[in-house]
Amino acid sequence: MGFTTKLLHSDRRFGVEHGNLVKPMHPGVTYGYEDVHDLNAVFQGKQKGYTYGRQINPTVEALQQKINLMEQGHASLAFSTGMAAIGTMLFALLKRGDHVVASQYLFGNTASLFDSFSRHGIEVSFVDMVEAEKVEAAIQANTRLLFVETIANPRTQVADLEGLGALCNARGLIYVIDNTLTSPYLFQPREVGATFTIHSLTKYIGGHGNALGGSVTDLGTFDWQAFPNILPDYRSGDPKLYAVNQMKKKGLRDFGGSLAAEAAHRLSAGADTLALRMEKACDNAAALASFFESHPAIERVYYPGLHSHGQHARVKQLFQRPGAILSIEPKPEIDYLAMLNRLQTVVKATHLGDVRTLAIPVAHSIFYEIGAARRADMGIKDHLIRFSVGIEDVEDLLSDFEQALG
Ligand SMILES: *Cc1c(COP(=O)(O)O)cnc(C)c1O
Repeated sequence: MGFTTKLLHSDRRFGVEHGNLVKPMHPGVTYGYEDVHDLNAVFQGKQKGYTYGRQINPTVEALQQKINLMEQGHASLAFSTGMAAIGTMLFALLKRGDHVVASQYLFGNTASLFDSFSRHGIEVSFVDMVEAEKVEAAIQANTRLLFVETIANPRTQVADLEGLGALCNARGLIYVIDNTLTSPYLFQPREVGATFTIHSLTKYIGGHGNALGGSVTDLGTFDWQAFPNILPDYRSGDPKLYAVNQMKKKGLRDFGGSLAAEAAHRLSAGADTLALRMEKACDNAAALASFFESHPAIERVYYPGLHSHGQHARVKQLFQRPGAILSIEPKPEIDYLAMLNRLQTVVKATHLGDVRTLAIPVAHSIFYEIGAARRADMGIKDHLIRFSVGIEDVEDLLSDFEQALG
């Protein structure tokens, strides 16, 4: 089955309720049993069933199955936000004295989260991952995990995802790919040997800016039996589920970043149209990128679909399409904040992957707190503006930018 067909019939594949085509919303928190022996057996993991909403919920479970289908995973877990997914995964699987190699061009909050982990005794090295050879030098005897995003925000650098996969495989490292900016429709981390795919479901998968969520998918590629941080309690049953079991208990249960049923319901409906939205957003982004590239007021355009992009060949090889995130640097004489204020259709807002086109001057907003030095390391200039291109009629976007640029 194709990508979309599979999603449209996902809920029915995993159990129909009252003939419903989509999984109903179950906001209930606890589950009663006629026979207390069953309750005990569920708690002891000897019988399948529901216990308490922090760990398991039927609506959330249906979404997890859908994510798993999209990513061709072995098992997926959903969380209250993308940050909860990343934080819980790291918290459950790493310990004091471990070392992580992370991309230098991370989503700001993820970089901030790694800074926090480094205060709790987990060493972190931030490395430019555009060339895998440079990453090899950062690996130490205590390195456990490598973390990278598919398209860096806001400069759109694309790491050597394939080379990093080979490296992690050779060194036995957990390879985490945050696939938020590409979505499983444009890129399948499984193809480059990833261990986990991460999503902020809030972005493209949900798509409508009406629910927060995150996910971790174990692609079933890692040998957890050889991984020292799996605790004895979670070393039973399918060895491919050791990490997921530990994340469920030490992460979801103990940390409590659980997704609400209502959010899961909305995110699941959003996922059904991911392919359609992504195609349209990529069409619009390509049109805007070439408009900006030939516009006299614009100095630079960063978009993975342009020939001028540093990793254009890699993007063509790895991704179905180059995505819908693009950034520009207007010429110095342009008052870029005034230009943004003239926009009427495009919305000045943070967030990405929305059906609406959003614009943000990142140095003054989402990358303000990290300071000028770190921004310089990341190649973020004061006048860099990031767009998350939506699915509007392209003529409306073009005419809005035409009038705003004057
Ligand atoms: C937004 C985002 C996150 C965090 O997701 P939330 O759902 O906002 O917590 C993580 N990674 C990337 C690449 C993101 O864009």
